[in-house]
Amino acid sequence: MRIFKFGGASVKDADGVKNVSRVLQQEGINGVLIVISAMGKMTNAFEKIIDAYFYKKENLKSTIDFVEDFHKKIIEDLFPKNHQIYNKVDSLLGDLSGFMARNKSQEYNYVYDQMIGYGELLSTNIVSAYLLEIGINNKFLDVRDYIKTDVNYRDAKVNWELTEKIIKENVATSQLNITQGFIGSVGVETTTLGREGSDYTAGIFAYCLDAESVTIWKDVDGVLNADPRVFTKTELLHEISYTEAIEMAFYGASVIHPKTIQPLEQKDIPLFVRSFDDLSNKGTCVGRGNKITPEVPCFIVKKNQILVSISAKDFSFMVESNISDIFKKLDNYKLKVNLIQNSAISFSVCVDDKYNNFDAFYSDLKTKFNIKSYKEVTLYTIRHFNEEAIKEIRKKGKSIISQINTETAQLVIQ
Ligand code: ASP
Repeated sequence: MRIFKFGGASVKDADGVKNVSRVLQQEGINGVLIVISAMGKMTNAFEKIIDAYFYKKENLKSTIDFVEDFHKKIIEDLFPKNHQIYNKVDSLLGDLSGFMARNKSQEYNYVYDQMIGYGELLSTNIVSAYLLEIGINNKFLDVRDYIKTDVNYRDAKVNWELTEKIIKENVATSQLNITQGFIGSVGVETTTLGREGSDYTAGIFAYCLDAESVTIWKDVDGVLNADPRVFTKTELLHEISYTEAIEMAFYGASVIHPKTIQPLEQKDIPLFVRSFDDLSNKGTCVGRGNKITPEVPCFIVKKNQILVSISAKDFSFMVESNISDIFKKLDNYKLKVNLIQNSAISFSVCVDDKYNNFDAFYSDLKTKFNIKSYKEVTLYTIRHFNEEAIKEIRKKGKSIISQINTETAQLVIQ
């Protein structure tokens, strides 16, 4: 069996949906299971609905209208009038309104998970109906009947034993199956695997079905050695090993989430990242083979970082007890550490302040420590660096810290 995953960008409009059928026709449909995300940026749009509903904001109706209009426009472009998909879309949106009317829960994460997955339910119903309409038979699976999780809403952990048993016993492997990414269930409640979770869904099905391969279809040629929005010259990576992909993700590359890689690596299932526009391009293969081919430096950029240098007011060394104090606080304030450097009297970290907690962290620490911080710096990581690559990064500004080990160079640039 082969698993295909189509993300939001691949089904962002009617042409995208048509293109899915073109990919299937060319690549073959037998023994394929396709996992689809919400269309375009619909998950963000659903987050706005949830926010408006949960915090009782006035704009609830307009957020719902936006989502409804978006999907209606796509189905109008794809189907004749009076097609049953119009009722299906209405009924899904009706279920969502029904939930909002009935719900008494004050637990945000629970409410979020019950509402957010309508993006995936809408997209898969639309794609499945379109494929049928043009004569491509397919079986629609509600993924919540297959992927079972714990109750950790918004970041649910897969119950592998149960999920594997259900998938093995119930997915017909000879036909074309179509299902939703990102969501699962516990009992009758919907859960989600975390944002960008659809790749992981593909990995789960691949693992449980001992799939031949997973292909993630994208609007780029494959995995590049740098973000083309930041670097003018980029190269396509033909091969990356599982370990290298995990390393790159660790440093912040938005390659493929380690969660997705792990089940594939366990069963040696290759993962292809390919362009849905250019089917002649073989893209990138993530697998057991070479670390990286071609062997070029890979650049990972993290903007809006804060570099903090900390030293003790009593001149004590920055060793175990001071460092453990600092780490506890970093954890308490949810500051994500992306680089660490220390000397006898100074400890520096480059952090991501996603939750805007830095000022509180600073106040908490300043009684005991001297703290110097540089805000809005950029952290550049180069895997498989060479002199030239480092020079290129140094050109981008003043380097305030650099750290180099055998395979990775990191520079904080102001
Ligand atoms: N639609 C979900 C999201 O945008 C899951 C996914 O696309 O992977 O996070």
